[in-house]
Parts: sequence; structure tokens; C-alpha cells
Amino acid sequence: MHEQQRRPVAELDDVGGNAVDRHPALVRRPVDVQPGGSLRRAVAVAQGGRVFWHAAVYPVAQMRIAIDIDSTLHHYWDLFALLARRRFGVALAYDEQVTWDIVQLRREQVAALVAESHRPEHVLGAAPYEGAVETVAGWHADGHFIHVTSHRSTAAHESTAAWLQRIGLPYDDLHCSWDKVTRCSELDIDVLIDDSPQNILRAQEAGIVPATIAHPWNRELCHEEGVICATDWRDLGDQLAPLLAARLRAR
Ligand SMILES: [Mg+2]
Repeated sequence: MHEQQRRPVAELDDVGGNAVDRHPALVRRPVDVQPGGSLRRAVAVAQGGRVFWHAAVYPVAQMRIAIDIDSTLHHYWDLFALLARRRFGVALAYDEQVTWDIVQLRREQVAALVAESHRPEHVLGAAPYEGAVETVAGWHADGHFIHVTSHRSTAAHESTAAWLQRIGLPYDDLHCSWDKVTRCSELDIDVLIDDSPQNILRAQEAGIVPATIAHPWNRELCHEEGVICATDWRDLGDQLAPLLAARLRAR
């Protein structure tokens, strides 16, 4: 489904009491980023019998959620470590991978392994993390916009789409490329779930709430304010629930 199909244009909400989400994570950048765009609608707030028109225009009620694939929807590390051992004879221990960079491998070796890991047989063979599909399906059923995003070659798009269909994960948009956060901004994403420290920080800079499954390479960022860090998908669903519920209540 094209993402615009889920978006009403220039609607007006009359919201009693606390009109908009008060959670700091939901405070958005000014509307003049996209004036009059179809992604937003005006909100009138009734308070004490008076109606205040917000100068800003608020996003429509549904949250717009971007979800990374590797090490977010499935446990990518075991595949990567297996390929590293087979191809370069290098042993990589998950628990010891406390940085994003893999110092045991040269940059071109990492690139070769990443490319190999995104061949169709590996993409299609991945097993989703427990609870991931159910959690995302629940969000989608509630009307939230699901953008699946992966730093993988566009050549992997077809097999990735087939994998998402095989595991039964519903989504509205799939993007395979290296400009993940840029694309998230273009889509007016609210929350990015991604294990990469760089993406977590870039998302936060762009006004997007970063969330992740905790891994050794991103645990340090879990102590940062505003970063949602979960032990597993059930925990992630629980931690994001207040944000999503606040948005739904605003409908
Ligand atoms: Mg990832």
C-alpha cells in the first residue's frame, strides 16, 4: 500500500482536554518543514470552553514506525559470524562485540560478508526474533504506519519482500538502501527501531524517537536519555505502548 493512502488530507480534529501527546518524545519539530503537506492536519483544542487553534499543525493520529531488519527483526550476528569463520577463518564472539566496528576484519572483508549475508538464501532463511512479528502486526492492525528499512542493496529488495511475506510481517513501505535516516525524515517517521549506534544518534538529531533491541555494541547508548532500549520484542512493545496509545487517544 502506498503510504499516502493511509493519510487523510487536511483533516480537523477537535480534541478535548490535552489535545496532543504530552510525552516529550512526541514533541515534533515545527510544521514549516512541510507546510500544508498531506502528512499533517490541523488541530483545534478545547480548553475550559474556549477553543485554541494551534499555530502548528500536528501529525495524524497514527504513529509512523520505521523498523530495521538485521539485529532488529532477527538475530543477524550468528549468520555474520558463521560467514566470517567460513570465508576468513575469523571467530567473532557476540558478547565481545562491544563496538560497531569489527576490528578483527578489514573494511572490505566486512563489506564482502555483509553482501554475502544478503544473498537470497540467507535473507529468506532468517528466523524472526520471538514476538517481533506479533508486535508489529499488532501495531499495523491499530493503524500505525510500518516502514521496514534496511541498509542492504536494492538488489536484495525482492528477497526481503518475500521474506517479510513468508514470516507474515505486515508493512506499508520497504526501503533497502544506505540513506536510512534521510528516508525516515522524508516519510515523517516518529520512531526508528534500529540497533546501529550511528542510526540511533542520527535519528535523535532528526527528531525521531530511537528505539532498539539491546546488543553489546549499542548498550552504552541505552543509558542516554530518550533512547528506548529493550531486552527483547515483548519488552520493546511494552516500552513503546504508552507512546502509541497516546497517539491513538488523540484520534
Ligand atoms: Mg541492524
